Amino acid sequence: LCVEHPLGQGQTVPLEREQAHYLFGVMRLAEGAAIALFNGQDGEWRAEVTRAGKRGGELTCVEQTKPQGGPADVWLMFAPIKKTRTDFIVEKAAEMGAARICPVQTEFTNAERIRRDRLQAHALEAAEQCGNTYVAEVDDLARLDRMLADWPEGRQLMFCDEALAEDETPAGLKNAPKGPWAILIGPEGGFSEAERARLRALDFAWPVQLGPRILRADTAAVAALTLWQAALGD
Ligand code: SAM
Repeated sequence: LCVEHPLGQGQTVPLEREQAHYLFGVMRLAEGAAIALFNGQDGEWRAEVTRAGKRGGELTCVEQTKPQGGPADVWLMFAPIKKTRTDFIVEKAAEMGAARICPVQTEFTNAERIRRDRLQAHALEAAEQCGNTYVAEVDDLARLDRMLADWPEGRQLMFCDEALAEDETPAGLKNAPKGPWAILIGPEGGFSEAERARLRALDFAWPVQLGPRILRADTAAVAALTLWQAALGD
């Protein structure tokens, strides 16, 4: 469970109403039950229910079970697609330990806006479910060309495109530098020719083909994150 409260030996943690409802109403936990807590700073702690109530409750930290981990310094940039598939991309990126999840507007992106708070809640849920000790940060929708214009020094960009030359394969990444990366996945309509030309001209961009088949954007996001983890992850 992610809480916004310091965690430490013997530390008591008051529960918000909806957290109490989830733990005691839905999960039916009683006093003495153990729960894993994290807050993004103090690692993961085993806590026990010391007060269970309908509208609130209290947990007490017993022992630290995981040191504070850090997200992998990888960003997943993707053009929003249909709602459920966008939720899926956010969830997978959070599970894979991405630090930032950036919905981007490309020429052929058909989503005009996103519900950032809802996507952030998905990232939180994924972190709780897979035992991360931090939560990926979900950005608001940003224009791709704006992000590229003020690109952070030193970060490399893996831009995934099915319409690349045969020789632009993951093998090309073996000479790529370690260090902070971003992954870019296009919309259902793919990248425009102007976007491809612009991306290929960037010295920090690495075009990568994820096999000969055209993947759905959500499949490509998972494949690219896995490739990054295997080839470049720290
Ligand atoms: N342009 C494609 C078409 O004409 O059907 C559709 C784009 S695909 C549905 C969405 C995104 O997934 C692409 O922009 C790309 O980022 C990624 N993608 C899909 N297949 C890929 C592949 N084989 N290699 C690299 N990226 C791929």
